Amino acid sequence: MSPAIRLIQADDVDAWQRALLALCLPAVGETTSHASAIEAPVVLVPSQAAAEHWRQTLEQRVIVEGWTPPRALQQALEHEVAPGPHAALVLPRLLTRDGFLDVCHRAARLDRLRLPGMTREVLMGASARHAARAHPPPFLIRPGLVSEMVRFCDTVVRLGHDVGAWLAAAADRLADEAPTDRGAERLLAQTRFMQAAWRAYDDRLRRLEALDERGLREMLQHSRHAWSPRHVIVSVADHHAQPEGLWPVDLPMLARAPGLARLDVVLTRRVAEGVRRRLLRAWPEATDVRIPVQRPTDTRLEVDSTERRWIVCRDRHEEIVACTRRLKAWTPDDPSRTAVVSRRPLPYLYVAQQLFDASGIPLQTTATLPLAAEPRAASVDLLMDAALSGFTRASLVSLLRSAQVRVVCPDGADVRPADIAAFDAWLANHRYLGTIDALDRLLATPPPPRPRDPAGSGDRGAQRALGAWQDEMRARVVGEALRPVLTLLTPLQAVQPAATHVRALRDAWFACERLPHDDEPFASRTRRTRAAIALVLEQLESALDAHDATPVPPRDTCALVKRWLEERTLAVPGADEGAHLVEADAAPYGIFDHVRVVGLLEGEWPEPTARDIFYPAFMLEAIGWAEERTRAAALRSRFADLLTLAAQTVGVSVPELDQDAVVRPSALLDELRAFGPDRLVALASDESAVPVTGEDALLSTPAFPAAPVLSTQARTWASWRLARPAPGSPGQTGPVGADRYSVTAVETYLQCPFQYFAGRVLGLREEIDEEPGLPAREAGLFLHGVLHDCHAEWARRGAAVIRAEDLPRARAVFTEVAERALLALPPADRAIERVRLFGSAVATGAIEKVLRVEVEAFGDVTRRALEHDIDLAVELPAGEGTTRTMRVRGRVDRVDFTADDRVRVVDYKMGRRPTQPLQPGVYAHAVVQQARAAGRELGIAPSGFVAFREESPWVASAGTPEAAADQARTFVDAVDQIESGAFPVRPANEFRCQFCDYASVCRKDYVGDA
Ligand code: SF4
Repeated sequence: MSPAIRLIQADDVDAWQRALLALCLPAVGETTSHASAIEAPVVLVPSQAAAEHWRQTLEQRVIVEGWTPPRALQQALEHEVAPGPHAALVLPRLLTRDGFLDVCHRAARLDRLRLPGMTREVLMGASARHAARAHPPPFLIRPGLVSEMVRFCDTVVRLGHDVGAWLAAAADRLADEAPTDRGAERLLAQTRFMQAAWRAYDDRLRRLEALDERGLREMLQHSRHAWSPRHVIVSVADHHAQPEGLWPVDLPMLARAPGLARLDVVLTRRVAEGVRRRLLRAWPEATDVRIPVQRPTDTRLEVDSTERRWIVCRDRHEEIVACTRRLKAWTPDDPSRTAVVSRRPLPYLYVAQQLFDASGIPLQTTATLPLAAEPRAASVDLLMDAALSGFTRASLVSLLRSAQVRVVCPDGADVRPADIAAFDAWLANHRYLGTIDALDRLLATPPPPRPRDPAGSGDRGAQRALGAWQDEMRARVVGEALRPVLTLLTPLQAVQPAATHVRALRDAWFACERLPHDDEPFASRTRRTRAAIALVLEQLESALDAHDATPVPPRDTCALVKRWLEERTLAVPGADEGAHLVEADAAPYGIFDHVRVVGLLEGEWPEPTARDIFYPAFMLEAIGWAEERTRAAALRSRFADLLTLAAQTVGVSVPELDQDAVVRPSALLDELRAFGPDRLVALASDESAVPVTGEDALLSTPAFPAAPVLSTQARTWASWRLARPAPGSPGQTGPVGADRYSVTAVETYLQCPFQYFAGRVLGLREEIDEEPGLPAREAGLFLHGVLHDCHAEWARRGAAVIRAEDLPRARAVFTEVAERALLALPPADRAIERVRLFGSAVATGAIEKVLRVEVEAFGDVTRRALEHDIDLAVELPAGEGTTRTMRVRGRVDRVDFTADDRVRVVDYKMGRRPTQPLQPGVYAHAVVQQARAAGRELGIAPSGFVAFREESPWVASAGTPEAAADQARTFVDAVDQIESGAFPVRPANEFRCQFCDYASVCRKDYVGDA
């Protein structure tokens, strides 16, 4: 006997809820004296979250409020609710579409397994690779494409078509067009590949004697035990309007289900408008039922301005702050009647958990998070990155620094952050660029001998040497400790069967995972995440092991692992009370007085359709593929329903930025025009001053240390902090004691005082960049060394000056010395440095530039002092004719002594001339005073730089003794400022900040204010 099918259309969302509620209660005649004998109806819902909200709604309305459907409603529904307590005892079975099929499969007691999605995808991957041998597709087979192939085939089947037949028809049609159309030719190649893949997939499925959704449906038709409840209530629309809704193949299956007496589809009138025609086509015998409004619609719209009907927030964080502020200002009796509604849980779930927690408001949520979003999953990613990158320095250091990773040293101690920093510097200094062999070679080099211990001697050089040695020894220990993990990962560096890759990844993950302690926050969640990740890896490995032995690149396997970590979800523990964070599809199943809909952005409301990537829309329309405009219209209807869900107020907020990108509001905001002026409620303007988090309370002006959101400890600290005298101006510390000053360091101070402070006063280390060839500093040292040796060799051969006629001989000497130096470099670096020294077809080399400068500008040299050390108290000119004595240290690249008893200081620069040089002037004074102490009186010759990237390399920056004195005075002024503790953030050029190693610790927000 066919079931009675009804399309029940409720005039608004409240009437829809009440009709659903009434139908969930047992009717007269269905009850017995035993609750277990009452057959509960089945309610099809869009998601588990919706099921949970509907369960809560049933309990609230039926048990707490004792609600009974009004007589008129019962009559309209032709569903006379049984009186008495039975109603409260029987909960309907709340199932999603997939859950319904699962229940059918179990009830039919079929001896065939219903294959999980992961196994089906593995089967399709193996089939696709097999098919590609005979019918190469016009694309590379990637894991993402394989999952799209499964989705495409499932969709064709759910639309009621045979995949093989449709592909064959498509191939015939394309074969006619292919000779004259390149696009059709490509589609034909794709179709032939998909035909072969589908055949192979079908064949494997048959051999396995397993079921996919199509096979299950076929078997259910002939099963003697087919399960069918007497009453099914469908609360979702069809797949055009809602992807989680009913598909064409579901409609006859439900209508023909044995034992089904009643099939009620309950929708709001707005949603039913688009769906009704399509349902009636499948069920012509269905009857219409209209449920009028059950309570007057009195939802009012919250607005914060008279100009628009939505609330504008800077970003998503601000949206949630605004929600918590609203709750704080309003203090409802029952916060659980409030909901924050988002299209998808992320990113609001993270933001809301943090902000509701900080503001002391409990938050309930039924949302689930992708496993990949859990911190523990990051360690799997880091292991994959390390293997795929070839164990580069950055990937190894990131792995070691992860809080989820534990690497144990041979002595049983954990690797500490200082050890990781030493390991990082050690790899960088040895220019390690990846590969396990390179690491092995480094570890195999004999360690340097231990320097003498300078304990108590105050010898800073010896202390530095000992510190460097200790760092290297620590780095080696870290390398040894990490090596076994890298060995486990090595299968992930070659083309292998994917099961081998996954096994290697799983073993490496277990070998270095850090297990949580019982007393750690989130220990339970971490354990659940760990178990879930281990399960995904295990299932993937066994599915691949059983069904796909094809060797694949490791990158494909890693993509597959990532995909499944994103696919699986983890329930987030939340409170049992407080405000709700709920997804838009689940929200209509809850009871709320106040709703705030967040994230009304283009591309999110509505979300773009997951388009089919294989075929154009015109080829798919004929088989009933969901159309974009139908789906958009359905979503608009559901959004309009959502606006009237709350019994009292609704607010809609729109962020202006999404992760710093400017975003556009959703077109669905047009629906807010339904709220006339009499239904608007203005938010109080002083509400924005309500502190909702500790940060709010502390940052508000004036600060609000007594705010209840602050913990006792924070309150005490805030009060103490406020009682302190006002802080000085930013960038000012107490006086700094006199020191030995390096001229280079003082030049840095002039370029940016805070950079000097970070490096010299705080002693923060600079980041070491990973780059091919010698790092800039080492390349500079190499060039300096070569030029030093060239001049030393020239002097050894009996000359100081280089004249024009000496050039051929000088070139030969310099070339010989440079070639010798290059031999000491690794081959890769040698090529780069050779070009720097000898030039190329388009650029002159450093040696030729130096020789030309020698001939053109330094013909007066009698003697050169190379790498000349300075470390003495120097009397330098200061302001107003005075002098100051200060200790100066440094190494001058070169001091020339000229025939007319003067000194010329020359510094080599790899790049361009410095913008505010001090070295020529200060060093010239220091050398003159050194000579004076030795009984020789010298003058100052024009001093400066040989800057190799300048068009004219010789730059006389202290061209006269007066200019040298000016530089010395600038040096004295800068030292005075350093000693007064003035370290403002004041770069001489803001471009400098782009390359600054201290940018992460620098408050650049007041650049320009200081
Ligand atoms: S980031 Fe800019 S302002 Fe900050 S320390 Fe570096 S150079 Fe100075």
